[in-house]
Amino acid sequence: MQRKLVVVYLRVSSSSQNLREQKDAAKKYLKMRNINEEDVLFLEDFSVSATKNDANNRPAYKKLQQIIRERRVALLIVYARDRVQRNFYEASEFNELVNVYDVEVVYTASDEAPFNKNSSIENFYGIFSQQEGKNIGRRTHDAIKRYPGEVIGFKRIKETQENGRTKVRFLLDNDRSIVIKSLFEEFSQIETKEEFVNVLAKYGKKLNGHATVMKILQRPFYSAYCLTDYGYDELNHVEALIPLRLFEKIQAILNQFIEEYHETVSRAKDKVLLNPICGVCNKKMVFKKILDKPSYFVCSSRHKKVVVEVDEFNKIIEETIMKETELFVLKEYESIFKMHLRGITDNLVHRKQHKQHLLNKSMLSLASDFYSKHAKFSLEIQRTHAEIDEIDHEITLLQSLRNEIKTISQIVQPALGSLTKTEKETLIELLIKGVKVHQDYFEVDLYSLVKGKGVR
Ligand SMILES: [Zn+2]
Repeated sequence: MQRKLVVVYLRVSSSSQNLREQKDAAKKYLKMRNINEEDVLFLEDFSVSATKNDANNRPAYKKLQQIIRERRVALLIVYARDRVQRNFYEASEFNELVNVYDVEVVYTASDEAPFNKNSSIENFYGIFSQQEGKNIGRRTHDAIKRYPGEVIGFKRIKETQENGRTKVRFLLDNDRSIVIKSLFEEFSQIETKEEFVNVLAKYGKKLNGHATVMKILQRPFYSAYCLTDYGYDELNHVEALIPLRLFEKIQAILNQFIEEYHETVSRAKDKVLLNPICGVCNKKMVFKKILDKPSYFVCSSRHKKVVVEVDEFNKIIEETIMKETELFVLKEYESIFKMHLRGITDNLVHRKQHKQHLLNKSMLSLASDFYSKHAKFSLEIQRTHAEIDEIDHEITLLQSLRNEIKTISQIVQPALGSLTKTEKETLIELLIKGVKVHQDYFEVDLYSLVKGKGVR
């Protein structure tokens, strides 16, 4: 069977990160995984126009899709989601493709949430990670404008008053405004990421894409208000589509999702390996990130606060899996190889003793009657000497084999220090049942990996 490919896909568009940044991140990752650059297929697209959405604009991306369909790709390395998916629909298409053909996807940019095999969650990340999505949660300049140019769902009416001044009013267009109203109503009912993604997909088709939908959802203009530094301000020249109460409810829902997304990104940046359990109340501890301070886990539900910094916690976990794996390597060595080696060595030593015994007997016989037996015994003595030499040689070989095995376990141990994140996660999953954090100690609960591990 043909060996599967490792592919690095790069795309440069005029408005975003340069090629070098993407390449450097990919190379750093390849090095970490011990993949030789010469074994990697680099595919590059240079698209100038950001508005042209067809794949013909990106020949390398087309090629990528093709080789994935031919089942030739094992690992795909991309800088950020917005390199392979430029809108919500491309995103769903891409996520389906890599899942169907079982491609491992890695995003190397530090502020990307890691790839998730669940397409709903992956699509959810996609919404936030695309260029337009990056501003989500920040108040846009548009939002505070009282008199915008055009607003989707409204008719902008300009009237000249008697005094000659013009007055602008915004009235519902009763076309898209109806769609937008049901968007708000539907969105106010959502509870899961899946529902979130579905609502965005559905209304994105009707309202110029999901980015527009996200903007609409955050715009108080639809409730005839604008947001100022002092709170909401009513706009009397705007016909309200929904009550402010509904708008505020939607902001609460949206913020919850945005927070969840930012938490995922922070967790990825902090390389969170495992979520600890509070030793006092047995609940999952909460991950917290405050600006430039180190992240930490905390629990304070009705008891004295239990806190641990993520870095410290990760160190404990890593030390634990190192120790356990080391123990496993040594145990394996002892129980299987050592016993086997001893058996073979004992056998050889026994055979050597037997030969030496024969040799002594021959020597004695020879000494008793040298002249008559010389011809017969000298040959036999020579042969036995050669046999003993051979056994000695085998014993030496076995000794060096024993040393080799020792060396292997010495090599394996340091190699554990340079495990990739995925390898580490697998080990953690295999070895650690859970970790409880108490006020002044950790309690690490392990699966028993070595059979009959009574003695430690
Ligand atoms: Zn607690």
